[in-house]
Amino acid sequence: MSVIGLGMMGTTLARLLLQAGYRVTVWNRNAEKAAQLVKEGAVLAQGAAAAINASAITVICVHDYKATGQILDTTEVKAALHGKILVQLTSGSPQEALDSETWAQQQGAAYLDGAIQAAPSQMGRPDTPIFVSGTANAFKQTEAILHIFGGRVTYFGEQAGAASAIDLATLSAIYGTMMGFLHGARIVEAAGFRVDTYGSLVAGIIATFGDFLQHEANVIHSGNFNISESPLKISVDAVERILQQAKDAGIHSGFPAYAAGLFRQAADAGLENEELAALIKVLRG
Ligand code: NAP
Repeated sequence: MSVIGLGMMGTTLARLLLQAGYRVTVWNRNAEKAAQLVKEGAVLAQGAAAAINASAITVICVHDYKATGQILDTTEVKAALHGKILVQLTSGSPQEALDSETWAQQQGAAYLDGAIQAAPSQMGRPDTPIFVSGTANAFKQTEAILHIFGGRVTYFGEQAGAASAIDLATLSAIYGTMMGFLHGARIVEAAGFRVDTYGSLVAGIIATFGDFLQHEANVIHSGNFNISESPLKISVDAVERILQQAKDAGIHSGFPAYAAGLFRQAADAGLENEELAALIKVLRG
């Protein structure tokens, strides 16, 4: 196994492979970062091409796809990639994944694109999520290795951009929740209550909220927006109240103004008496 990129994540990936008993070849632009891994049993390659030559499978995990391009787009590396499997675990966009796959296939390499949804200290656990997509054969041949990185490996099929797309979708859910949470913290602060107590309350309802999100996702998937859990109208009114309270309390109204704007569009489109998930019809444009 070869690992290119020894930042915090790449170092962790290489170490997990060593601990699992693999012979690991590593390369990093700054060779000093390989020193500790070499002490632990890794072999330091003299260049990216040499690292790829050393193994059937190479994992690359660097800052971004621009860095990936700078490392891989050389005559030596292109020649080395022929007949190999390249696993791209650098974070990027779906389009970058597709472009990267096309480029790798032009070099005669099988390509798998992945997204890691965990911090380095969380890697290697049974519940660590790894999303991957790309050629089925490349997945089959790398599945055991991916399971060393994280126990919850999900393969999203042959469309190489899928893993990045799902990664961004779940990040969107997290950041959207975080925006709402932080706005809530301002409501609590402005009302003179303890934010840590508010945090405990929110933590307590998150599990139930997960069930609710799953229900709304099922509604979207089914295409049946008849009211089954929560009429959209309730949310139109609730978000207006959050916006009004922000104005009354003199707190930043950016988040509720955005949300209220979307719900108003839904009401104007006659969706008030459909299930909450019908808001997606506004987002579809
Ligand atoms: P990092 O510690 O900042 O390391 C960045 C790596 O990229 C280093 O190996 C660095 O090489 C290399 N690099 C950057 N620009 C380069 C260039 N132009 N040419 C060659 N090498 C270059 O980052 P990281 O935390 O390991 O993250 C790596 C990837 O994992 C990122 O895409 C990140 O989004 C993803 N990820 C990270 C985390 C996390 O919590 N850390 C979680 C999930 C996903 P040098 O050492 O020579 O500078």
